[in-house]
Amino acid sequence: MNDWLGQKVGIYGLGKTGRACVEYLAPRMVRPLVIVDNTTAEDLTRLQAEAEDRYDLLAGDDALKQARELDTLIVSPGVPLTNENVSAALAAGVNVISELEFASRYCEGYLIGITGTNGKSTTTVMLGHILSALGPCHVLGNIGSPLLASLDEIQPNEFVALEVSSYQLEAIDAFAPRIAIYTNLTPDHLDRHGTVEEYARIKRRMVDNMQEGDFVITNAMTPEFHPDVFNRPDLHFLQYRSTPGNRLRGAWLANDRIICDLGSEGAEIPLDCIQIPGLHNVENAMAAILACLTVGATAETIIERLSSFHGYEHRIELCREAGGIRFYNDSKATNPEATIIALRAMEGPLAIILGGRDKNTDLSAMVELLKQKAQHAIVYGEAADRFEQELRAAGYNGISRVDNVEQAVREGVRQLAGEGGTLLLSPACASFDQYPGFDVRGEHFKQIVASLELG
Ligand code: ADP
Repeated sequence: MNDWLGQKVGIYGLGKTGRACVEYLAPRMVRPLVIVDNTTAEDLTRLQAEAEDRYDLLAGDDALKQARELDTLIVSPGVPLTNENVSAALAAGVNVISELEFASRYCEGYLIGITGTNGKSTTTVMLGHILSALGPCHVLGNIGSPLLASLDEIQPNEFVALEVSSYQLEAIDAFAPRIAIYTNLTPDHLDRHGTVEEYARIKRRMVDNMQEGDFVITNAMTPEFHPDVFNRPDLHFLQYRSTPGNRLRGAWLANDRIICDLGSEGAEIPLDCIQIPGLHNVENAMAAILACLTVGATAETIIERLSSFHGYEHRIELCREAGGIRFYNDSKATNPEATIIALRAMEGPLAIILGGRDKNTDLSAMVELLKQKAQHAIVYGEAADRFEQELRAAGYNGISRVDNVEQAVREGVRQLAGEGGTLLLSPACASFDQYPGFDVRGEHFKQIVASLELG
C-alpha cells in the first residue's frame, strides 16, 4: 500500500462504498478527500464532525476545484462519470476508478465476477454456497459488502464470488476476474447508460483485462453476450441454455438433467437437486455449475451443495410450509416483470399478494399470466385501486382488498384453507408506501408467516 503514500486520493460519495474506502485508507496513513453531493448544511456539519482526522470533507464549488488536483478519485457506483466534478477530474488527467478497480489491485483471491441484468445476486450466492465445499469462499460486491471491506481477510487464491454492476465497470482499467459470468441482458439503467448497446458494451468490459485461458460463461439466449461479440479468441467461452436446441460447449437441458460439456471434461446434474423454483433459477444454476466445474468441483459435490441451497432472501424464498400451505417471500419483485418470473415458477393452487407503491408500469402481461396461474389476488397499499381495476377489466374476479401485508397474509391463509396451495408475496410494486425498503417488507412478511398458528 506504500505506493499510495503522499498521493492525493479522493473518494466520491459516502455510502457503503465510500465508507469502506475510508476505513481501508485511514489506517494506511492516507487521508482522503471525501466529496459528497446533495447534502444539507446540517448533514455536512455532522459529517465534518465525524470525519475527525480520518478524512477531509468537501461539497459544492470547493469540490470542483479540488477534484482537479487529485492523483486518484475513487467513485462510488451511484456517481456517474458525467457528474460535473468527475468530468472535471477526468479532464484534468486524474485517475478516476471505481472501488472495484481499487480493491482488485490489492486482492490476491481467485475472483469470479458475476454480472447481467437479472439473477446476479442469486447466482453469486449459489456459487458461494457450492464453492465453500472446496474451501473458503467470500461472497461480496454489489450484493452487499464491497470487496475492499474484506480485503484483509481474503487469503491468496481463496475464492471470491463477486457481484459486479455496470456502474462499477464504467471506471475500471485493470480489474481482471479469472472467471466472468454473464447471466442475461434486458433494457435497464438506460437513464445512466443511454442505450442498450452502451449498457451491453460496459458489461462486456469485465473481460477486457482477463488473461489468456481464463473462462467466460454466458447465457446462449443473450446475443449481446455471444462469444463472437467479445472478440477475445484467447479466452475459453462456455455457454448455457435452458431451451431446446443444439449441443453447446457449456451446458444444456436433456431429460430432466443438466448436461455439461467442457471439452476435456463433462458432468450430468439432475434437475431435481435444484431446490429453488423456476426455469430462471435453472439458468442461474447452470452458470454457477459451469464455474464450479472449471475450478475442479466434482458432479457429486455440486449435486450435494445444490440440494442444500434454498435460495437467496426475498427472491421466491420458501419461508414456511405448514397447514398444507407453502409460503414464498418474493418481496424483491418490485415490478410486474419480476412478478411474471415468479408466477411462471409456481404450480398448483395459488394466492398472490400484490401492491405497495405503484410504479405505474404496464400490468397487462402480468394480469394475463395471473389469470392462468392464481385463483386469488390480494391487493393492498397505494397501488390497490389501479391493480384491482386492471384485474377486473381483464375479467378476473378473485380479488380481495386489504390495507396491509398482515391482513393480506391472513386473507391468503383463509382462502387457501382446505384446498391448500401456495401463498406468494410478489407485489410488483415498490415497498415505500409502508416500508423503508423491499427487504424490510420481506422480513415483515416472514415474521407474520412464522407467527401463524397452523395445523
Ligand atoms: P439481481 O441481483 O441481478 O437483481 P436477483 O438474483 O436478486 O438478481 O433476482 C432478482 C429478480 O430477478 C428475481 O426475483 C427474479 O424475478 C429475477 N431473476 C432472477 N434470475 C433471473 C434470470 N436468470 N433470468 C431472468 N430473471 C431472473
